[in-house]
Amino acid sequence: MISEKDYKLGSARSSIRELFEYGKRQAEIVGAENVFDFSLGNPSTPAPKELDDAIVELLSKNDSTKVHGYTSANGCIELRTAVSDSLNRRFGVKSNPNEFYITCGAAAALCCTFSAISGKANAEIIAIAPYFPEYKVFVEGAGANFKVVSPDTLSFQINFDELDSLINENTAGIIINSPNNPSGVVYSEQTLIALSDLLRKKQEQFGHAIYIISDEPYRELVYGDINIPFVPKLYENTVVCYSYSKSLSLPGERIGYVYVPSEAAESERLYAAVAGAGRKMGYVCAPSLLQMAIAKCVDSKPNLDDYIINRQLLLDGLTSFGYECAAPDGAFYLFVKAPGGDGNAFSEKAKQRNVLIVSGESFGCKEFVRISYCVSTKTVKGALPIFKELIEC
Ligand code: PLP
Repeated sequence: MISEKDYKLGSARSSIRELFEYGKRQAEIVGAENVFDFSLGNPSTPAPKELDDAIVELLSKNDSTKVHGYTSANGCIELRTAVSDSLNRRFGVKSNPNEFYITCGAAAALCCTFSAISGKANAEIIAIAPYFPEYKVFVEGAGANFKVVSPDTLSFQINFDELDSLINENTAGIIINSPNNPSGVVYSEQTLIALSDLLRKKQEQFGHAIYIISDEPYRELVYGDINIPFVPKLYENTVVCYSYSKSLSLPGERIGYVYVPSEAAESERLYAAVAGAGRKMGYVCAPSLLQMAIAKCVDSKPNLDDYIINRQLLLDGLTSFGYECAAPDGAFYLFVKAPGGDGNAFSEKAKQRNVLIVSGESFGCKEFVRISYCVSTKTVKGALPIFKELIEC
């Protein structure tokens, strides 16, 4: 008998993917140059050259059974060592390679972590709106209940009064994502300290660990002189879920990791449970060739030049037309208040003019729309006059 739950998930496309597919069909009708597709978060800047070189070198110098073979279930030691050394250097932590579990991107890292911390019946995991829509799928897939703190649409930091009232004896973890998809906002150190203080108080009240799951695919994508605090340094019960999808422009190659610091409560059991969740879901052994190549490039930085240009063009253009948007300090998204206050209606209106922007509804913030500016600058320049017309009519 087919699982009704899985059937529903597989037959209902995400609104982002639906818009992207629509864009491809529309391009065949009106020409690709007349479709301005800001729907997906697919990096438009190429992967660093040293990554491509590392792949070529691995293929030419190694026995192919090594680079195409299975690695250890938790990832090859070369990558776990390189990541651990890099974090120790950059953030002054004292991690070791055995605290890292290499995954197929942040998606698998999150699924493993949610499953690992949801051992208690009726476990709840809280997200803070606006949030990446797949969190709901991943949390519910792990058997936990998904709870949401409504957005603070002025600062896009955390609505602490509501978070305080949502935490209860079933709360297993809080997901944070900074720089944020979809708002582009970076949580300040002050916000993260307040969050840590609140969670320590709640842990004491309820007598068990409440983990922060820090989802960090956009950690390296920041603009200007902005400090991105390293969450494990502020709160001991943090699990980091990282991905190279955006930071090395490799979303199709599927490499990320879970970092369970030794300071976290029950860290050894938690790490084993993350590995067990990976095993249960058949996620063991992320692509070997890419693990080995990334091991040589963990400190490579993305080339942000195109994102910087696109972000500035959109920010200057849209604000001069009268749009309001969240402070876009990181990632490659602008989260814009929909003129008229209805993200669905505005996304639809833009779609009629072949400008594809995602309604904020699926991110838990329905008055807004998300613009992914990881596109060509030509697309941004072509769309700006249409954005002007859209706010005027
Ligand atoms: N988390 C956030 C906030 C994202 O935006 C994405 C992808 O867009 C993911 C997780 C999943 O990333 P990955 O491609 O590494 O699985």
